[in-house]
Amino acid sequence: MRLLSFTVKGSERVGVLIGEGRILDLAGAYSILFEHQAPGLLYNLKALIESQARGLDLARLVETLSIKELKANSPLGERLVEGAVFSFENVTFNPPVKGPGKILCMAVNYWSHAREMSTEPPESPYLFIKLASTLVGHKGSVIIPRGAEKPDHEVELAVVIGGKGKYIDRGKAMDHVFGYTILNDITLRGRQTPLKKGARLGIRWLPAKNFDTSAPLGPIIVTADEIGDPHNLKLQLKVNGELRQDGHTSDMIFKIPEIIEAASEGLTLEPGDIISTGTPSGVGAATGKFLRHGDIIEAWIENIGSLENTVFYEV
Ligand code: MG
Repeated sequence: MRLLSFTVKGSERVGVLIGEGRILDLAGAYSILFEHQAPGLLYNLKALIESQARGLDLARLVETLSIKELKANSPLGERLVEGAVFSFENVTFNPPVKGPGKILCMAVNYWSHAREMSTEPPESPYLFIKLASTLVGHKGSVIIPRGAEKPDHEVELAVVIGGKGKYIDRGKAMDHVFGYTILNDITLRGRQTPLKKGARLGIRWLPAKNFDTSAPLGPIIVTADEIGDPHNLKLQLKVNGELRQDGHTSDMIFKIPEIIEAASEGLTLEPGDIISTGTPSGVGAATGKFLRHGDIIEAWIENIGSLENTVFYEV
């Protein structure tokens, strides 16, 4: 399934993609099909993920019945078209998971990116944190803070955790994955370096990677069963149509099972948590091309889709 979160007529909804740019509102469709108020998990994708198989089974049922009625052009199908089918132009996209418990991100996890930065990869997965408050949805603005220097883009495959776990063995790690989406790890290179004094405190992850809107996410979560091998996907990033990053997830230094194993060492992963798996080469830090006011950034991953955001310099 290809799931997303959106707002229409002031109401937050969970949708499923049923065609190019066409969204089925699951709660709306449920009400039309069953003439009954939809359960809460059809209004909140995080709640749906937390409900485990129950939520997905229900979502699949609503999708299947709706598509049947839509194809038949039945009276019920007509009511679905009127009340529960929306085009991309008519909705506001939300980050697919609202308020995830944590967003963990991999540093230097593509060989191509390590080479372009002349950085030796770490010997084990190196994770840092992005706060839930940094999220912004598809088509939202990336707001560059006042005085910030060298804002940069990083297209990344993001894993959405479905099954809770601690000390997860890499052999069982993929059982904990709900699906995959796109994260653009926006970074202020000018604030990423260590301070002159206290350099031993290291890279400044907080100001460089945790300003408001520094984590565009979504719009679609593709469930794990529809992705197949997540280490066999092309990923690209364009700025104003110009190709800046062009990579492949097979180039990851640490693969997803190993990352999940490392992330869950003493830390419980929970449904809705996001783990972003690092970026391939082509970032501004290597090319010297940083983000400018008005730029349109499009992060794309094969079989998932595009995440588009506009850069806005705060004054
Ligand atoms: Mg990154």
